Amino acid sequence: MSAGAPVLRFAPSPNGRLHLGHAYSALLNADLAERMGGICRLRIEDIDPQRSKPALIEAIVADLAWLGLRYPEPVLRQSNHMAAYRAVRDSLIDRRLAYPCFCSRGQIRARMEAGGETACDPDGVPLYPGTCRGLDPARVAEKLARGEPHTWRLDMAAALRRAGPSHGYVAFDEVGARQVDANPARWGDAVIARRDVPTSYHLAVVHDDAGEGITHVVRGRDLEAATDLHVLLQILLGLPTPCYRHHPLLFDAAGEKLAKSRGSQSLADLRNAGITPAQVRAQLGFG
Ligand SMILES: [Zn+2]
Repeated sequence: MSAGAPVLRFAPSPNGRLHLGHAYSALLNADLAERMGGICRLRIEDIDPQRSKPALIEAIVADLAWLGLRYPEPVLRQSNHMAAYRAVRDSLIDRRLAYPCFCSRGQIRARMEAGGETACDPDGVPLYPGTCRGLDPARVAEKLARGEPHTWRLDMAAALRRAGPSHGYVAFDEVGARQVDANPARWGDAVIARRDVPTSYHLAVVHDDAGEGITHVVRGRDLEAATDLHVLLQILLGLPTPCYRHHPLLFDAAGEKLAKSRGSQSLADLRNAGITPAQVRAQLGFG
């Protein structure tokens, strides 16, 4: 690889075994990296202390090796970088771009239902009505000092004022590249740091894509809307915006999205059933 060569990444979460959908994404990333004369890194996105299991990390690496995929060392494990995420979170707090939210999901839902409000973010979660945005600072300090559980939310209006009026990114596919307008406002005051860890998926992924010098993010269409929020965070944090490609998701015979939670056949199941890596590659169009 030469200096300035493309850097891609495959970034699974170790909360289940890899299935064909992951294999497609991993193979597409590797294939594109090779065709562009770059490299593809592996990143373990294990910020969730409840769902991430160490044994599953080993299984993921073994499944990828079985597919014929090798990755440069070191492999970034997000759980080892909580201090860095905390610093990024705090920089947003210090600039008054994030505020603590003490509401539970149930409270938010109940308040919305009472108000007849039904607007949701792109993930289908009710848009946060901003209840804690205007809390009295003395009361906030008291709650924080008491250790009351809280998330940290982006103050979307303040963030948009800081970032300026237009945001976008370059989307690329087989045909070419095009500029896409981002609309982060549809996420409302998104959670940028959870109760249990000083980050969220959004904050960690933006931090790590920049830290690892990722130039091309290739991931599923289920994350396409999140890219709008990621572009805004990149502007606020002074980080570069990579190019993005959001690939189609794979569906099973019943038309359901392949997901570990629905018990889709894992790569390990396929291997145990005598399927070869070459057959998996061929089935996914990488023969
Ligand atoms: Zn709140």
